[in-house]
Amino acid sequence: MSDVASNGRKIPVAILGATGSVGQRFVSLLADHPWFEIAALTASDRSAGKEYAEAVGWVQESPLPDDVARQVVQATEPDAARECRLVFSALDAGVAGTCERAFADAGHLVVSNARNHRMDPSVPLVVPEINPDHLALIELQRGGNPSGGAIVTNPNCSTIGLVLALKPLHDAFVVKTVNVVTMQAVSGAGLPGIPAMQILDNLVPYIPGEEEKIEAESRKILGRFVDDGILECELTISAQCNRVPIVDGHTLCVSVGLEQPASVEALREVLRSFSGEPQRLRTPSAPDRPILCLDEPGAPQPRLHRNLDGGMAAVVGRIRRCPVLDFKFVVLSHNTLRGAARGAILVGELIRARGLMG
Ligand code: NAP
Repeated sequence: MSDVASNGRKIPVAILGATGSVGQRFVSLLADHPWFEIAALTASDRSAGKEYAEAVGWVQESPLPDDVARQVVQATEPDAARECRLVFSALDAGVAGTCERAFADAGHLVVSNARNHRMDPSVPLVVPEINPDHLALIELQRGGNPSGGAIVTNPNCSTIGLVLALKPLHDAFVVKTVNVVTMQAVSGAGLPGIPAMQILDNLVPYIPGEEEKIEAESRKILGRFVDDGILECELTISAQCNRVPIVDGHTLCVSVGLEQPASVEALREVLRSFSGEPQRLRTPSAPDRPILCLDEPGAPQPRLHRNLDGGMAAVVGRIRRCPVLDFKFVVLSHNTLRGAARGAILVGELIRARGLMG
């Protein structure tokens, strides 16, 4: 696989919502990407017209790249990205629905982190290692859109870690029931985030809409592509979601009921050996292993393990038998890397590697 587009140049891309928590991750990851280069940055009217350095409240650990700092932020309108076929969206969900549709109607291929279009039957909801075949829905969208544009979505940041762990178990043993309790980082709530007085020394046992998203999205991602749509996976799943005073990294306590007999060792083996299309294609953001199994009793922990494999690994630990369902374990995944920006970039890489740019 070559490092650049066929004409020898990098592919220009736009970042919508570039000033937010996820948008900043896109900027830091795309500033030095081997295939893509940042050609346009957009945000709200509050930021439009300002240099990026002035518009953004930069909260990344890496310094703001000089050339991006001087780019002028534009209003979120399709004209802003006229040189860019591929557009990454980190827009607030309040505006993502209409803005992303406008970009797709204008011929852009939008890879979105927002919830708005995820459950649309014609929109692929993709984790590249799990359901790359669902990208076939792009061609179906293009059939009804003469501009050649389309929308592809990245799942909710908790769903991603969960389905990465469920997929190999489902293939090997058929997962019938799932109970998941999440402990989600504050960066998942965007900028400026939850007031300190609400989250420090505390846990908030409610994240609006999150439990429903995890339940519905998991069934779609683990579903099968048939003819012209997705047949959802028959999975009974119950989610309970909590916000905790962690900066990055969502931790999930998961119990599963399986159709086929299994053992702790067999679960560990199928999780450890799991690999997908990005690993075969060796795209730039693909982790060596999408799932890392840690054996020490106190793992995984957000501060210690969220950045493993570039923040792209679902880190699994504490696999053991469950007296209520069959097995239980803990999954950690980085919510703004695998769960948002780097996960979406991996989707973009797969689209390019599969020749779906259009
Ligand atoms: P955020 O920090 O609140 O950033 C929102 C972005 O949207 C900002 O760039 C903001 O620009 C822009 N925006 C707001 N109103 C706008 C408008 N009227 N027109 C154009 N742009 C507008 O949110 P975030 O956490 O980065 O999340 C971005 C999206 O990704 C959301 O849909 C979220 O649900 C999803 N997501 C987040 C995570 C996570 O872990 N944070 C994970 C997965 C998915 P200004 O700065 O100019 O206001």
